[in-house]
Amino acid sequence: MKDDNCIFCLIANGQIPSNTVYEDGDFRVILDISPAAKGHMLILPKEHYANIFELPEETAKKVLPLAKKLAAAVKEAMNADGVNIVQNNGTAAGQTVPHFHLHIIPRKEGDNAMPLWTPGESVPEEQAQIAEKISKLMK
Ligand code: 5GP
Ligand code: ZN
Repeated sequence: MKDDNCIFCLIANGQIPSNTVYEDGDFRVILDISPAAKGHMLILPKEHYANIFELPEETAKKVLPLAKKLAAAVKEAMNADGVNIVQNNGTAAGQTVPHFHLHIIPRKEGDNAMPLWTPGESVPEEQAQIAEKISKLMK
């Protein structure tokens, strides 16, 4: 399904022009309009899925192999030292466009292009409880 009110549906399906890096039947890969670093790309499925929770498994299975190829290509093209793969779900997690997308961001040593998380503290008993709680839901 496509959503005519969704900017990424319109871009992914070619109704709004974009700097396209790659396209196949399932995805369009574009340059981010406000890049964290030069070469910052977005993998967009052509179908509308708001987030990872809606993404069908068959589409999900194709995302990481594509990300792997793009990461290698952008590393070479931009002479990068590293690459971040980022994917936000929900406003609480920083998602601003509610159409699933994966960011691929080439990095140079010391570029400060994107802040990562602030490392917190962990309590061993609490860690064990959390691991058990999540683990139960995986069965
Ligand atoms: P999010 O915060 O949802 O994970 O990321 C959304 C990303 O989409 C942002 O990095 C933003 O710069 C990018 N973006 C938003 N609108 C457009 C657009 O119209 N064209 C392109 N190429 N990127 C966009
Ligand atoms: Zn959409």
